[in-house]
Amino acid sequence: MIQELDTLLTQDEIQLDIEEIILKNKDNKIKGWKDSMNYLYNFSIKSGYIQEERLKLNIILPLFYKHQYDIGFQVTINCSKPEIIVGQVVGAAHYSNFEGECVICFENVGSEKRKGLRAYEFKCNQSILFRQFPPYPYFNYHNIIIDKKHTPQILSRNTIIEMLEMSESMPSYKIASNTDRVGTGATNLAHRHFQAGDHDFTVFYAKPLKEFKINNGDITVQWLNYPCCCLKIIGENKKLVEEIVFKLFNSWRNGTFETLDVSLQTCSLMSTLNIKNNNYEFLIFPRNAQQPRFLTSSTLQCIKKEFVGIFELCGFAILPGRLKEQLLQLNSILTLNENQLNDQLKEKLNQFGFIEFYDWLSEYYFNGFDNSKSIYDNLTFALQKSFLIILSDNSPIKLNQFELLNSWIEQSKILE
Ligand SMILES: [Zn+2]
Repeated sequence: MIQELDTLLTQDEIQLDIEEIILKNKDNKIKGWKDSMNYLYNFSIKSGYIQEERLKLNIILPLFYKHQYDIGFQVTINCSKPEIIVGQVVGAAHYSNFEGECVICFENVGSEKRKGLRAYEFKCNQSILFRQFPPYPYFNYHNIIIDKKHTPQILSRNTIIEMLEMSESMPSYKIASNTDRVGTGATNLAHRHFQAGDHDFTVFYAKPLKEFKINNGDITVQWLNYPCCCLKIIGENKKLVEEIVFKLFNSWRNGTFETLDVSLQTCSLMSTLNIKNNNYEFLIFPRNAQQPRFLTSSTLQCIKKEFVGIFELCGFAILPGRLKEQLLQLNSILTLNENQLNDQLKEKLNQFGFIEFYDWLSEYYFNGFDNSKSIYDNLTFALQKSFLIILSDNSPIKLNQFELLNSWIEQSKILE
């Protein structure tokens, strides 16, 4: 039941309660961050800020294994949040109605426009940050971690330091950063923020294609066998991990790559402290904002028009809610056409306003159709296959581009 908003605890009271929970558990950091998040989550449900009913609308497909990578990808259709289409201004009430300079500014917390929103403020590196739940969490403990100052998203060594520091204080939690270039994932570049969550992301299970040992094996850098390029930096020594990550980040950002426009180079980042072996695990996904070269290909835009963000790079697809209805309609159209790929199908798709799906059906649905499964199951299978290609489309280094990868490693000087 949603409480009367005027009787809710204030932001100051919530802050004190959370500080107390964390202090009480200072010898068990994992319990500390989990208990404190449960506390804020339950508050956010009571205040109506998180609408659990809407979260139940999401479709979560079974893990997808039919591909060359030997790991399970998670495809979800997100029916709780509005779709943000490349090049279009977001019109949904939540995104256009705010206090301060933007929708994630601290001024929104507990304001008239976000009466039920509360946050937890903490110091990290040289910054004051606060973490809060989004109105539509994607998975367990999904938080946005925001700079208290409205300052633009610019990745730097401090980004890496802060991610590692948060990983240290919240073991096993996943701290992520989107890029700082338009067209590569982040929807708000005006205000610096991180994404975070407790999901068991696919990418952490990816096997190495190539491995580099640094500092007598203190640090391992792996190039992962994964649809989009990812380097995984593993090590127990936080300072050393920071140094190697920064070298790789900096050389990708400022290096010389013949075929790439350096002014558009950026990265998506993810960090965690693996509690099984006490290693930091830091992931760097190189990105380049050149469009449409590193955007989702046109055949797949009917599946996802949004920019591809860090969670998706990590193997968790967040596809737009419209697909729920569209898959059902495509199922009907295909049934009506006796599941044939022909001119009549084209006509029917046109008639029902689904012509943008024709090439996709031809390439991803009919190609590899499994007769032992229903039309609908083949449609969701095609959707899962599409996700892996979307990841590859958005990656500036493809799986077979050894030379480009080597050039990056060389310019980073991590092996010297
Ligand atoms: Zn702001």
